[in-house]
Amino acid sequence: MNLSALAASALSGAKPAVFWTDSPDAPKPAPSLHGSSRADLVIIGGGFSGLWASILAADRNPSRSVVLLEAEETGFGASSRNGGFVEASLTHGIANGLRQWPNEMRELLRIGDQNYRDLLSFLASNKIDARIEETGVLHVATASWQLDELAEYRESLDRFDIPSERLTADQVQAEVRSPTYVGGLRDPEGTAITDPARLVWGLRQAAEARGVAVHDHSAVVGVESQEAGVVVRTAEGSVAARRVVVATNAYASPVKSMRRYIVPVYDYVLMTEPLSADQLRSIGWEGRQGLSDVTNQFHYYRLTHDNRILWGGYDAIYRYKSAVGPEYDQAGDTHHKLAEHFFTTFPQLEGLSFSHRWAGPIGTTTRFTATWGTSFDGNLAWVGGYTGLGVCASRFGAAVALDLVDGRDTELTNLSMVRKKPMPFPPEPFRYAGIQLTRRALAKADEKEGRRGPWLKLLDKFGVGFDS
Ligand SMILES: Cc1cc2nc3c(=O)[nH]c(=O)nc-3n(C[C@H](O)[C@H](O)[C@H](O)COP(=O)(O)OP(=O)(O)OC[C@H]3O[C@@H](n4cnc5c(N)ncnc54)[C@H](O)[C@@H]3O)c2cc1C
Repeated sequence: MNLSALAASALSGAKPAVFWTDSPDAPKPAPSLHGSSRADLVIIGGGFSGLWASILAADRNPSRSVVLLEAEETGFGASSRNGGFVEASLTHGIANGLRQWPNEMRELLRIGDQNYRDLLSFLASNKIDARIEETGVLHVATASWQLDELAEYRESLDRFDIPSERLTADQVQAEVRSPTYVGGLRDPEGTAITDPARLVWGLRQAAEARGVAVHDHSAVVGVESQEAGVVVRTAEGSVAARRVVVATNAYASPVKSMRRYIVPVYDYVLMTEPLSADQLRSIGWEGRQGLSDVTNQFHYYRLTHDNRILWGGYDAIYRYKSAVGPEYDQAGDTHHKLAEHFFTTFPQLEGLSFSHRWAGPIGTTTRFTATWGTSFDGNLAWVGGYTGLGVCASRFGAAVALDLVDGRDTELTNLSMVRKKPMPFPPEPFRYAGIQLTRRALAKADEKEGRRGPWLKLLDKFGVGFDS
């Protein structure tokens, strides 16, 4: 069967739904907000950032009343749609961190590592079974020019004494068998894989156990200042709050200034049916590492607890005027392209079907890392923009947002990353045009063995770009 027919056939029965939440274990939605009330802290957005903000706030001060308002159901956004790579990096990888904050890199690595460990120990001590597996990650090269990129990456890791191991084509094939691999780099520490929906559900339970009032189906439609703080309004209720944290990430924030810095990029994902023992044997993968390739338009993939393969990435689609909505969760062309890439990587899995196909909005900034801001005289702080590495970094993002809204001067609030904002995205139509131009330039660089053209070189000079 040719590749296109193979992809079409494998996709024919795929359910247009997020695999992780398509489960009988999904909890019932929390009650929506009705009437007017008061709280010490209101959090807007029930993804990882909002959940961690609520938990950390309650742990720092158990007597503080905390309300969390989510527009749909807790975890509805990127937090329950992602690949489940839990990576310690706060900077979207070490290379980007070195470009942006060379003098603070050691500190950022230490804080990121601590954040990763604290996340794992929180799950253990709160008995949250998010199907965490500390597998590390394996970066694979699929063309010889990518070996130079891996060598550069290894040098950066060596500078900070982070263990890694170069793998020849034979060695990488001994780990995971694909005719496309020509080499690899094992990065064994600081990455786990998880079931992100179970992580969301566990965090919601932990928040509720601490007295946080979680309200689903409670979209915030307005935020206004009042004498001693801020009033947060939904369609059917309002909360008068002393402090507010906004954690809406890729979605249109109720705080306009946030929208200049964070734009939504749609990232697409496929999930296969469980592999049979023979199919699994044909690819090896006994270490169950998270995998990713090293091109600008990269794929990420991993095994699930029941030996399916999650396969995502490549296209990163920005829509005019930062549009976000369920109508973008399915994209025939992109899902088809992803399926073709899957069978190019693993031709031995011909006959395997995809069970689910979906997408989600990644919030990205021009420097590919989180950013923060405050308004309403410092009574409101916002955070978002982790790009494709927010599962773990959102815990750090939430901690910083709380420090900011509580007026605390901490090691975290003094980081350049926190003090200085990235370059904002331009307004439309320049935003759309600039992003499209950059996407095309990135695809071209991949075709030309990684050589960056004049547009990308110009962006590099200003330390800005577009990524997922
Ligand atoms: C397909 C995909 C794959 C990814 N893979 C990975 C990965 O493997 N590893 C990794 O580290 N990161 C990954 N990411 C990124 C990661 O998922 C995000 O960075 C992280 O989940 C961000 O969490 P958040 O809470 O800031 O945002 P979100 O999870 O998007 O939460 C924002 C919430 O705010 C709510 N909201 C919006 N507007 C309002 C309003 N007005 N009122 C109330 N609520 C509102 C939304 O409904 C949403 O639930 C991926 C993302 C996607 C989309």
